[in-house]
Amino acid sequence: MQIHNDNRRKMPKLNCPHCGGRCADVADAKLKNNSVLTKTESEPADFMIECPRCHKLFGLYIKMLHSA
Ligand SMILES: [Zn+2]
Repeated sequence: MQIHNDNRRKMPKLNCPHCGGRCADVADAKLKNNSVLTKTESEPADFMIECPRCHKLFGLYIKMLHSA
């Protein structure tokens, strides 16, 4: 039996491409490796995230979602 006890590890962070502030935690490192931050709405993005520091929007594009 394996006990999943990874809570104390650092989760990968997303940093705002505008101000560099920490915006979101990505629970899965694989997800972070498969994601691309985009600065503008003109770039393809799966999620739009508003930075809590500078309140600008940036996009998160998940490559995994598009490689199937
Ligand atoms: Zn920001």
